[in-house]
Amino acid sequence: MKKAFLIVFIVASLNLFAQSTPYVILISFDGFRWDYLNRSISPNLEKIRENGVSALSLRPAFPSKTFPNHQSIITGMYIENHGIISNNFFDKSSNHWFKMSDTSAVRNPQWYLGEAFWETAERNGITTASYFWPGSELSLSSRRPTYFMNYVHERPYIERIEGVIEWLKLPMEKRPRFITLYFDDTDTYGHDFGTTSKELNESIERLDNYTGILLKRLEEINLKDSVNIIIVSDHGMTDTPQEKVINIENIISSKEIKFYDDGPFMRIDGPVNLIKEAYTKLKSHEKNFRTYLTEELPGYFHYKKNPMIGSIILIADIGWSLVTNRKSQYNAKANHGYDNNHIDMHGIFIASGPNFKKNYKTGTVWNIDIYPLLCKIFDIIPNPETDGDLERIEFLLK
Ligand code: AMP
Ligand code: ZN
Ligand code: ZN
Repeated sequence: MKKAFLIVFIVASLNLFAQSTPYVILISFDGFRWDYLNRSISPNLEKIRENGVSALSLRPAFPSKTFPNHQSIITGMYIENHGIISNNFFDKSSNHWFKMSDTSAVRNPQWYLGEAFWETAERNGITTASYFWPGSELSLSSRRPTYFMNYVHERPYIERIEGVIEWLKLPMEKRPRFITLYFDDTDTYGHDFGTTSKELNESIERLDNYTGILLKRLEEINLKDSVNIIIVSDHGMTDTPQEKVINIENIISSKEIKFYDDGPFMRIDGPVNLIKEAYTKLKSHEKNFRTYLTEELPGYFHYKKNPMIGSIILIADIGWSLVTNRKSQYNAKANHGYDNNHIDMHGIFIASGPNFKKNYKTGTVWNIDIYPLLCKIFDIIPNPETDGDLERIEFLLK
């Protein structure tokens, strides 16, 4: 009799827990600049804004690139701390490259020094899922969501949405409560056609249309009013005219000097004596870009504590592109990676659902604060090493 009572009690508590655990779908629109929302071509996104909260913009971390910023969003950490210091970087101590196109590097947990929200959540008994997110497919099961997908760039968007709906139709005990989704569209079309192009506007319309489809599918499975939807972007975008190109090897040139990254910023490494010389030369030719020894980079960039960054950092003025002889043509119509305080590098933050205020607008929010916000929604304790601050964002919640 006692045993039967205990079982009924446990089942009832589990049910209560399942009912009270929130749902969050975190969606990333890659390269969706903050002001793309204001072009009057995205009625579904505007509806989310009206029904929920919206920030003027979402400030990325420096450098405003894809892999580093998806990691900052999901760990709440500055880039120097979570370790994914660029889309592609070299580790001198192990002689290994991290490249976002190299699946074995992308899945190697050793590169990822932060704790992703799905790790924090799963540790607290919350099932999570990811239909794409940089860093979501690590080879170690304890470091990834219960349900995940290996990245396939060409996967049709409708299949991604249906995948999320299928997860949400699972029986309660298997159903994920936190799910990520990712769409590259506005980044791809921004780079290829520029930020004022017809093609980019069509891309905004497409993403808006897919948002409408997701909302409709949630309604069909009776979850529309239960799910919190948060839509963010990893960074913005700015036009990069062909005449604003600087070949850094016209200023410094040596076989022993290594150049990493290009376009909006460049990292330089080499033997100490050559670096000193290079720095002095670059400083005296500083036109349309800024030169820093990594250790003297202003603190607000939070981009110096990691040995993989290199010795010198060049940051191009907005719209300018830094190149080397190896890639002296710069074809992108628009790009990102510049100073994260420049408004063109800012993305979007809009959210609606049971945990969010209605029709509430705020100024700029920081992407490292999203991780503590997620912890608050799920009522779990954040990883103490996070750089995010709940106080800067908590007021968006009911
Ligand atoms: P970026 O060079 O910073 O503009 O990077 C954007 C690109 O990142 C996209 O076009 C995708 O091809 C790539 N990407 C996004 N998510 C992933 C992922 N999870 N795995 C590998 N590559 C990705
Ligand atoms: Zn991106
Ligand atoms: Zn991009």
